[in-house]
Parts: sequence; structure tokens; C-alpha cells
Amino acid sequence: MRSMAAFDYSALSVDAIRSGIAAKEFTAREVALAAIERIGAADAKVNAFLQTTPDMALAAADALDSAVSSGTFDEMGPLAGVPVAFKDNMNLLGTRTTCGSRMLENYDSAYTATCVQRIVDAGGLPMGKLNMDEFAFGSSTETSAFGTTKNPWDLERVPGGSSGGSAAAVASGMVHVTLGSDTGGSIRQPASFCGVIGIKPTYGLVSRYGVVAFGSSLDQVGPFARNVRDAALALNALVGHDPLDCTSQPCETDFTANLDEGVAGMRIGVVPEFMTAPGLEPEVGEAVLAAIQKLAAQGAEIVEVELPNAAAAMSAYYVIGPCEAFSNLSRFDSVRYGYRDPGHADLGSQYEASRAFGFGQEAQRRILLGSYLLSAGVYDTYYYPAQQVRTLITDDYRMAFGECDCILAPTSPRTAFKFGEITDPNTMHLSDIFTISINIAGNGGMSVPLGLSADSGLPASAQLICPWFKDENMLRVAAAIEREYGPAPIAPAFADGKVGA
Ligand code: GLN
Repeated sequence: MRSMAAFDYSALSVDAIRSGIAAKEFTAREVALAAIERIGAADAKVNAFLQTTPDMALAAADALDSAVSSGTFDEMGPLAGVPVAFKDNMNLLGTRTTCGSRMLENYDSAYTATCVQRIVDAGGLPMGKLNMDEFAFGSSTETSAFGTTKNPWDLERVPGGSSGGSAAAVASGMVHVTLGSDTGGSIRQPASFCGVIGIKPTYGLVSRYGVVAFGSSLDQVGPFARNVRDAALALNALVGHDPLDCTSQPCETDFTANLDEGVAGMRIGVVPEFMTAPGLEPEVGEAVLAAIQKLAAQGAEIVEVELPNAAAAMSAYYVIGPCEAFSNLSRFDSVRYGYRDPGHADLGSQYEASRAFGFGQEAQRRILLGSYLLSAGVYDTYYYPAQQVRTLITDDYRMAFGECDCILAPTSPRTAFKFGEITDPNTMHLSDIFTISINIAGNGGMSVPLGLSADSGLPASAQLICPWFKDENMLRVAAAIEREYGPAPIAPAFADGKVGA
């Protein structure tokens, strides 16, 4: 019997895990046990997990091993035996779903979200639930009520957010695939900070049933992984119509199909205003320009496209987002859902005390803002114009995609910052200047690593943006970028079986 400590599953691809189990080189149980051990040690440094589910992982692994014994393993899904984990705003029966908030600290999932179920049905070994900014409000995972998650590349830096746990768990090699949610950048920005792949699919591609809502017209679920094919396999598992989410669309695409086609003949759009944006750090801008040149050398046609109204996206988002959040979070009233402060004689003081304790500062800020913006007399001044801006931005993208198949831009204006470095909410919000307009318009977007930036040695990334329901276009470009830079490495302190220096 092989020594468990020597079995480093973390560097294997999804395909290699599946075929290794099929060929009886190792068992799914061995993968699960190695992952449990590794998460136990590495997560003491990273704090990506809010809870682990070793029993679920072992039960799933044993079912796969029985399939090997009975000769039916071929029928198992493409993620068979792959360690996976989920952002803690996704319900998984048998776990808490806290949303990183005291409000839901003791909330037991009442059922399993469709996205989670599909990853489990594809054969993933559920390792646990991942830390996040409270209710997905934030860009650093610092607003979680349960402690910060550390960036595996530098433990003094944030992993990004709000899906910081999902990005850090993959970057540290604890699991291969995680799910996050993205309302304004919460998959792409942490993927960029942690140097992994993160996909926000086109709005409607992945069901949100069972995912705690933030901004219902903006939210989308997507995968994190360390290479493009792993991410495409996860996306294949996630898509497809779900009658339980009325925004969900049918999808027959195999996202692995065109990964080897290359970019020759593809038109890749570049937005000049993005490349000269005031907050863009030179090291990030240079990395993105270098990627554009490499794609041109591979035969892509680079075209300039205009998004004249994109500069207004941030303002529209900070109206629409808080309004929808205010509406969605009203259910956490200490009666139907959420923390109940004990000992109140009247309902008013119970609401007040429960919501004051249950919600952290950023959540309270968004709820108050949303309730103000939707109040009589104010609505016409902010909410209505924000929706008009939304239409303009959506049209901008539609026009731009008349001229190109995919847009390439920075994901985040900068590399990962240090804990406590940004305390002003407005500066924090600027983390998302390149990601927010895509949620406003509903297009797909993904972050792809471009190696390490010249100055800081931290991961730098590009963002790819696709026309509605043409997510295969951005995966094809991502594969071409990966051929230049290689798949995302595990952060050095966690590579080669190490669990954090
Ligand atoms: N950082 C953005 C915000 O704070 C986006 C968050 C998200 O996508 N969930 O709203």
C-alpha cells in the first residue's frame, strides 16, 4: 500500500485523476483521504474552508471505487474522483450555508443547490464549503464574519473576493474545482489575485437555484480551476436548463470541443479606454499588452472596439446592486430566516437588534442604500436612470461584438493588496472597474492567468469577455493563452506536496 503522505494528487489534472482511478493506479478513497489530510494541514494557513465534509467525500469516493470493482466506472461523470468545494452561499444538504454572516451562522441547508448537485453528479468529491465576503459584498473576503482567507501566494495579502475561499482553495492545490458566484466580479477578481482560472458564464447559463441571492439580475455561478480544460469540464457539468430557475437557458455546447483550435482567424477586441484607465497598475497593463501581442503572433486579428458607456457601469451597479440586495435580504428578518436576538417583548426591537447584530457593516451599508434608493421620490432619480444606463451598456457590448468574437481586457486594475491596505469602501469598489459592466450587460467573462507580474512577483491576469451564450469563444482564447504561459501553478509554498511554508 502506497504511503498516503507521498500521494500528491494536487498536481494531477481532472482527466488524470479520473483515468488513474479507472486504471486502478489509485483509488478514489486514496484521493479523498489525501485531500482530507492536505486540507487539514494547508487550510490551517489559508483558512479557505468554513467547514469540511470528509464523510461526504469518503462516501462519494467509495461509490466510485465500487463502480470500478463492478466494471461500471465508465458510466461515472467527467469529474469522477476530483476533490471539489463550494462557496458558502450555495446550499448542500447536510451542511450549514452561512454566506459568511452571523445572520446565517446556524442555517442548515434545506436542500442542495442545482449547481452543487451537478458537480456532485459529475463525480466530484465534496470536500466542504468555502469562505466569502458576507453575502458576497466585497472584493477581499475581509468582510466575512468568520475570519479572513489568506492569499496562498503571500499570506499577508487578500485572496480577492467575494469568492476568496474558492480561489485560494484552488491556488493552494487543496481541491481542483470550486464554485463561486459573481455579481460584479466576485469570481474573476479573486481568480486574478490568486492566479487561477475563474469563469463567470453568460447570465442564464448556470442555474442559481439554491444559491442565496444577492442581485438577482446580475448573479451568476461559475467554476474555478487551474487549467482551461479542467474549467471547461466543470462548466460542461454545470450548464443546462433547470426548471427551478426561471432565468436558466438550455445549453448543448461541449466547452472542451474547440480548445485546440487556436486563435488564427479569430477577431479579438481591445478597449482602448480600459488600457488607459487611471487606476490600472503599469505591471498589470504591461502583462495584458504582452498577452495581446502573443495572440496576434498566433494569428488572431486584434481590433479596437468601443464601449462608450462602460464608464457609467460602476454608478449603475451601485444603484441596481444595493436595490436588489435590499430586496433579497429582507427575508432575513429573524422570524422567517436568520439570527434572532433573544428576549425582546416587541417585534420592532427584535428586528432591530437581530439585524444590527446579524449583519456586518458592509451588508448594513448596502441594505440602507438600497432601501433609500427604492423609496418614493428617490426611485425616479436613481433606479430608473440606472436601468437606462444598463440598456446603453448592453447595446455597447452588442455593437462591439459585431466586430469581434471575444474581448481581451485586464481583470483587475492591480495585483493582490495587503490586509487592511484598503479601508475606504469607494476605493475597494474600484477593484471591479473592469468586471462590473459585464454583469450589467449579462455577457460571459473569465479571468486567465498571465504568469507573474514583473514588479511584485504576484499573479497577473487577463479577462476575456464573450458575446451572449458564446462562452466557448473565450475558452478557446483562454486555451491559446495557456499554451503561452502554461497552466496556473500551485502557489510555491503549497506546491510539490507542501502545505504552506
Ligand atoms: N466586489 C463587488 C461588490 O462588492 C462584487 C461582488 C460580487 O460579485 N459578489 O459588490
